[in-house]
Amino acid sequence: MLSNKSKPYKGRFAPSPTGPVHYGTLVAAVGSYLQAKKNNGEWLIRMEDVDITRKVDGADVDILKTLEAFGFQWHGKIIYQSEQTAHYQQALEQLISQSLIFPCLCSRKQLAKSDSTIYPGTCRSRQLPEKNEHALRLLSKDISIEFNDAVMGRQSQNIKRQCGDFVIRRRDGLFAYQLAVVVDDALQNISEVVRGADLLDSTARQIYLQQLLNYQTPDYCHLPLAVDDSGNKISKSEGATKIDLRHKEQQLISVLEFLGQKPPEDLAQSHINDIWSWAVEHWDVSYISSKKHIQPVLSQK
Ligand code: GLU
Repeated sequence: MLSNKSKPYKGRFAPSPTGPVHYGTLVAAVGSYLQAKKNNGEWLIRMEDVDITRKVDGADVDILKTLEAFGFQWHGKIIYQSEQTAHYQQALEQLISQSLIFPCLCSRKQLAKSDSTIYPGTCRSRQLPEKNEHALRLLSKDISIEFNDAVMGRQSQNIKRQCGDFVIRRRDGLFAYQLAVVVDDALQNISEVVRGADLLDSTARQIYLQQLLNYQTPDYCHLPLAVDDSGNKISKSEGATKIDLRHKEQQLISVLEFLGQKPPEDLAQSHINDIWSWAVEHWDVSYISSKKHIQPVLSQK
């Protein structure tokens, strides 16, 4: 298999259409975009609406309009996870045929009683088919998954002890994010995943799935998470303020600084296209802090 470095670069930005673009979303968009540009690669957009219960009508269009206003240019057709179900089902069947999937009847209430956040293995010995309402979980093996993150460094997680048997298809019939993201990254031939550090912990599970499904593992690059002054994630789903398109230049400069880049003082007065040109030319991943949480300073320049 070719290493990711010797393949054409393909990056992606994968927002969940649960609200408008906020600072944290912009960080992931800018970071993934500049990595793709710097590597002369393609940058794809995927709407992660696999959890249709969290989807907000029109949020996808709103996100795309904001990206367009900032001058982002994406490649090809935008994939919507809600239209990818047949692919997820095929991957699920592949896992079932390896006897790695079991039905889980535990309710959320029952699971909440367990001391640990890791699934206690209650239904591990159950077999498919199952008549009662159930989720589908993947059997976790006692193996350690290791990877080098471009920003966060060497990572290692034991699947059995630190992740447990995780959900592949929810009780309500929806496929879980972990499966959807792995299938889509493989289908779209993504060579590097650049995203927020809130997903660093999910990566070992995703690599575990890639190995079971015989997919290639992309490179990973997790960016610090923008937090507010009480340390909470600034995200679209937590009532954070929307990006103000009247101050695009300042916002972009602020995101670049958040990502450790060093734009010159007067760049904020330049046209957005010139800020992008500067950013692509000077983009350096090694400047990004490996702190998982950072409070951004919104530049007033
Ligand atoms: N859809 C996720 C989010 O908006 C990102 C998932 C990913 O990049 O893998 O937080």
